[in-house]
Amino acid sequence: MLIKQGALAEDRWVHRSDDEALPDGTPAIVSLDRWKRDRATLVARNAPVGVRLKSDQQPMEIAADLDRVGVVALEFPVFKDGRVFSYARILRDRYGYKGELRAFGHILRDQYLFLDRCGVDAIEVRGEKALDEWQAAMNEFSVFYQPASDARRRPAVALRGTAADDVAVPAAEVTALSPSRPDFDDLAPVMVPPPADAPPAPSAERIAAAEARVRNFSGTYGHLSAQKLLAAMIETEFKGRIALVSSFGSEAAVLLHMIAEIDRSTPIILLDTQKLFGETLRYRDVLVERLGLTGVRAARPDAERLRKLDPDGMLFSRQPDLCCQIRKVEPLHRALDGFDAWITGRKRYQGRRRAVLPVIEASEGRIKVNPLASWTKELLDEYFVEHDLPHHPLEEDGFLSIGCMPCTDRVAPGEDVRAGRWRGKGKTECGIHESPAQQSLTSSAL
Ligand code: SF4
Repeated sequence: MLIKQGALAEDRWVHRSDDEALPDGTPAIVSLDRWKRDRATLVARNAPVGVRLKSDQQPMEIAADLDRVGVVALEFPVFKDGRVFSYARILRDRYGYKGELRAFGHILRDQYLFLDRCGVDAIEVRGEKALDEWQAAMNEFSVFYQPASDARRRPAVALRGTAADDVAVPAAEVTALSPSRPDFDDLAPVMVPPPADAPPAPSAERIAAAEARVRNFSGTYGHLSAQKLLAAMIETEFKGRIALVSSFGSEAAVLLHMIAEIDRSTPIILLDTQKLFGETLRYRDVLVERLGLTGVRAARPDAERLRKLDPDGMLFSRQPDLCCQIRKVEPLHRALDGFDAWITGRKRYQGRRRAVLPVIEASEGRIKVNPLASWTKELLDEYFVEHDLPHHPLEEDGFLSIGCMPCTDRVAPGEDVRAGRWRGKGKTECGIHESPAQQSLTSSAL
């Protein structure tokens, strides 16, 4: 099956290896080696022929024969091998290839739109599940990660740190891409009142009680291992009233595994900002299945708040604090309603404000437990190996701390592990771990 021009399409071509006979009357795709070896026979057959290029075979090797092949199939050996994007452009722009360009192999569905922009007009999809995923992916993303020369849309990397006016694209493109895109002058409110359904602020008594409890807990549980501390909190102190807030990012599997060992039905909240990487959502699905987690739920932004405050989905480029407020902080407050305690995956080695992170703390009348506060990167790596846990697919590509797609960048060797978060914006935290008083100090939007 193919994805072609944004829709599923029947594939009438078949791939054949170097030794297989070609089916009579059926269009067939063969390797470049076979094409070179049997060119005359292949051209004379009674059906069209296509050629398969491996990622280490240059387009120039087929350039002289392009008017004789109906398909050039470009292989992705691994998703991060970007040569296919370049080859597609070379075939279209330099050699003027007009036939079908298709991609196959290890392709992420998030790459679909960029492939399209590079001139690839078909993608081979295998398996029913993959088909469903690809169908969902076609309208999933409004922001691109990779830059492109066609300038139809600016990629996330160019949007980071840009002022609103810099983001504007020519009027004709705006009309074509987003008919309802508002004027930026109508946006960027200076003062934003909390939503009408925001949970009430905790009473002074509740705040004092939580702080007293923390003092008590620190003496009783402060010396326990992460696993034992979690067991005490989940099974004894807050049974049914504690939740893990997980980003399903690069190190999340450690806490998720520990919690699954204690109680697989423990509530787990993912802040689905609707700006997450597709890889993160699929990684969540992998971990849920692998660990048997049954309590995972998504906390999403309020649709009305998005419509009013972020109608074009670009608030992150103008007011990231406000964007985090409506996409993370407010949904978390709603999701924690009914819980007395929550668990986070923060660690001291992540630096900055986290360098002095306590294991147990009070926050807005609730208890916040940070079982991995003292863990090092080496300990986390060992845990992954010991329990054979899958890694987030973006980690091997240089993403060490993974949040929303527009605000997450790769981290260079030797850089702070969170250096890729809100790079260049002077922002280091999203606000969910700050009290309202701290937020007012750090947020220029509120
Ligand atoms: S991390 Fe970026 S996109 Fe995500 S909520 Fe914050 S500002 Fe918005």
